Amino acid sequence: MALIVQKYGGTSMGTPERILNVARRVKRWHDHGHQVVVVVSAMSGETNRLLALAKSITDTPNPRELDQMVSTGEQVTIAMLAMALDSIGLDAKSYTGRQVAIQTDSAFTKARIEAIDTDRMRADLNAGRVIVVAGFQGVDSEGNTTTLGRGGSDTTGVALAAALKADECQIYTDVDGVYTTDPRVAPKARKIDCISFEEMLELASLGSKVLQIRSVEFAGKYQVPLRVLSSFDNDNDGAFDDEFKQNVGTLITIEEEESMEQPIISGIAFTRDEAKLTILGVPDEPGVASKILTPISDANIEVDMIIQNIEEDGTTDFTFTVNRNDLSKAKKILKSNAEEIRARDILSNDNIVKVSIVGVGMRSHAGVASRMFRALADEGINIILISTSEIKISVLIEEKYLELAVRSLHTAFGLDREHGESSARA
Ligand code: ADP
Ligand code: ASP
Ligand code: MG
Repeated sequence: MALIVQKYGGTSMGTPERILNVARRVKRWHDHGHQVVVVVSAMSGETNRLLALAKSITDTPNPRELDQMVSTGEQVTIAMLAMALDSIGLDAKSYTGRQVAIQTDSAFTKARIEAIDTDRMRADLNAGRVIVVAGFQGVDSEGNTTTLGRGGSDTTGVALAAALKADECQIYTDVDGVYTTDPRVAPKARKIDCISFEEMLELASLGSKVLQIRSVEFAGKYQVPLRVLSSFDNDNDGAFDDEFKQNVGTLITIEEEESMEQPIISGIAFTRDEAKLTILGVPDEPGVASKILTPISDANIEVDMIIQNIEEDGTTDFTFTVNRNDLSKAKKILKSNAEEIRARDILSNDNIVKVSIVGVGMRSHAGVASRMFRALADEGINIILISTSEIKISVLIEEKYLELAVRSLHTAFGLDREHGESSARA
């Protein structure tokens, strides 16, 4: 007998028929003698609908009230799934984040989980019950409802698995695993059977939204065996002890797999959430970067890539990127400081994207960057900014080249699916 936490995303919970399908899958696991805790998202589109509704009241909704509102999507689906389970003969109970006692800090819209009370869940499991928990939400020490950031149900799933010391956390979604890149953008993307936490963390943080980054952090920290798999594929839930340990979905592994042929690049991530600001003609002297960036970080705006070009006249152009949502705020701050930093002008651009290649194999291979830059040059794609770490290289490019860049890098690094290999769509 194993204890399994299963998380079902918005598409998997998107219609009553799909919810009934989820219930049947949960029943199969339960019938095999396993204890099952299910975490669910709101029906697909519901969180966006609620956010838009809030914006129809004001452009800057109060964050506490926003969380109060957007958390309701999951309250509906937990009850629907519990009803579906009940209708096929299982003893099931649904719980909101508050009812479980998923304790978070008070950072509304991006709260962090601090503690989870497992007593109630353990008692239910021991009584043979299936538990259905609302993803994405928690409660702070004042009793306010909080949410964990977009895609946060993944984190609820992993956090529950960690707290309950589950044998596996299964993230059921609309693709059958983690792919070498988003299969919606590169049809030749290939499923990865096994990927290290380190690489998955990098892919998630660079934009692969198949897993919320915090869920991967959590799984790494608490060593939760984590698997991504399809909720539409009915052949993938054999008994836990035999087929399941095999190549179903993608396993995020704690140990790096020692394979003879470690690929240099494991995956390609991209994000459209980018915006660039350039401050022209500031004096090239000590303290400039700090003068420009301190007010930005004081406003809680995260700066990502930075570049400084020195002009012959002793001035410098200073460029950095921020999340697109923060662009107007950052620009306003720069404009109000323009005199103090002696800027000639301030430019901004949000028609840009970041494309990154990720792989632990980079550590032991030379020439990865030049192969990347060559592939982009061959397609006539201009690189605006570059940043690197030990296991990733990111470039900023014009948005119109996104698909072309991802596909050509995918081919250049030998990641394309072979003829005859199955494709991503479930
Ligand atoms: P859910 O609603 O189940 O949480 P998400 O939409 O959050 O699903 O995540 C699944 C989607 O992530 C896929 O449909 C796919 O388009 C996208 N995706 C992005 N990068 C990848 C990747 N490397 N591998 C698989 N899917 C990816
Ligand atoms: N419903 C939330 C969202 O759309 C949480 C999730 O689906 O993981 O972001
Ligand atoms: Mg998701």
